Amino acid sequence: MNSEFINRIIEAGVVGAGGAGFPTHVKLGAQAEYVIVNAAECEPLIRVDQELLVHFTNDFLEGLTRIIQETGAVKGFIAIKEKHQDVIKRLNEVIGNDQSIEVFPLKDFYPAGDEQITVYEVLKRAVPRGGIPLNVGCIVCNVETVLNVNRASQGKPVTTTFVTITGEVNAPATYCLPIGMSYRKALELCGVDTLDGKVGIDGGPMMGKLIIDFDAPITKTTKAIILLDIDSLLIREKTKTMEQVLKQSRIACIQCQKCTDLCPRDLLGHHVKPHIVMRIANYGLSDFSGMKTALGCSECGACELYACPNGLSPRRVNIMIKQEMAKAGVKIDKNAEIRPPSEMIDYRKIPVKRLIERIGLKKYDVKAPLEKFEQHLEKVVIPLKQHLGAPAIAIVENGMTVSAGTLIGKIENGSLGANVHASITGVIKAVTKESITIEAQ
Ligand code: SF4
Ligand code: SF4
Repeated sequence: MNSEFINRIIEAGVVGAGGAGFPTHVKLGAQAEYVIVNAAECEPLIRVDQELLVHFTNDFLEGLTRIIQETGAVKGFIAIKEKHQDVIKRLNEVIGNDQSIEVFPLKDFYPAGDEQITVYEVLKRAVPRGGIPLNVGCIVCNVETVLNVNRASQGKPVTTTFVTITGEVNAPATYCLPIGMSYRKALELCGVDTLDGKVGIDGGPMMGKLIIDFDAPITKTTKAIILLDIDSLLIREKTKTMEQVLKQSRIACIQCQKCTDLCPRDLLGHHVKPHIVMRIANYGLSDFSGMKTALGCSECGACELYACPNGLSPRRVNIMIKQEMAKAGVKIDKNAEIRPPSEMIDYRKIPVKRLIERIGLKKYDVKAPLEKFEQHLEKVVIPLKQHLGAPAIAIVENGMTVSAGTLIGKIENGSLGANVHASITGVIKAVTKESITIEAQ
């Protein structure tokens, strides 16, 4: 491992651009047999990876080659849905005879982009319950992270994020936006002038989080903003109170087990049993080992938005149980019996097309081409915690002038976290423990 390479990633503040924002210098500080780029983009409506792979093919492959070399991997795979033939063609043209990189075509199922499922598809190795891909010899990165690593090795920090803006907007598109811009401003780019009666989701429709405040900032991990009507099926599902979830479960759970049959993590051998968790929640049973099956849940939503014939929410019940277990200090038992993947794993894949219809998003399943962001932004609010670990510590004060790319928040030596940089040129207007506000001059 080259410490110069890792130092540059630390300096640039690179984190996993999708998901929870795991600091990339930690991930790439390991040695692995394989590197897998997760370009599955299995969440409906998000178009970032497809656009990046076509528009930044050379930079992306340069970044991947660097990661393969630095981690000592024998090969890098780009796992992408086989339906993206134009992207695959473009990648193969540039890869040419390079034997160290291979495009791995995935079927169009959900959740092909759950990194543990991606690893299984590519290598036929099952990451153990509670484990990480490195346990089976590989490192998984997403497309934008690879690009950010490439930029970091050229001394360029992370100041922007690629975001697909779609749903109830006039012109769905993908933009490269300054971190700290508000959701509201981002939506305006796609012709949204009123948010009355609308609800936003940050992320994909399955696992994304509801946007509580449209004036809140986008971060390094924002990959999509999906705007929907407040009375759409998906928003009604996502805004159910826990009380409603539990009441409906008691009335309508028929213990058919479909939630467990289609659970991707159970199929992988992780012993996730949502129907048992529902039974315990409904009848107040104190079946501790049954409850512990919730700990392996990835919260993918396949059970509640696709599998359950009665529209129930085993995912929400699992989350509730996981929170209770975390409070009680109960952790996943990594030494528990390792089960092989189910023989049914290849036959119980959820087709994305059917999923899109089921959650009422068919009319929004359209392209969102990459557009240039050319607006002058007056203000950004940059959170000091956009990643897993400790927040960055502000190193600027009110009144200071900064340029786009200036380091404004630093991780403490040795702690897990990521540096934070100014995304626009301007003056620091506010510094709190949570964020730094910059106004353009
Ligand atoms: S699929 Fe729905 S009804 Fe069937 S066991 Fe699971 S939660 Fe209950
Ligand atoms: S959300 Fe449901 S389907 Fe997904 S891992 Fe958890 S229990 Fe399984």
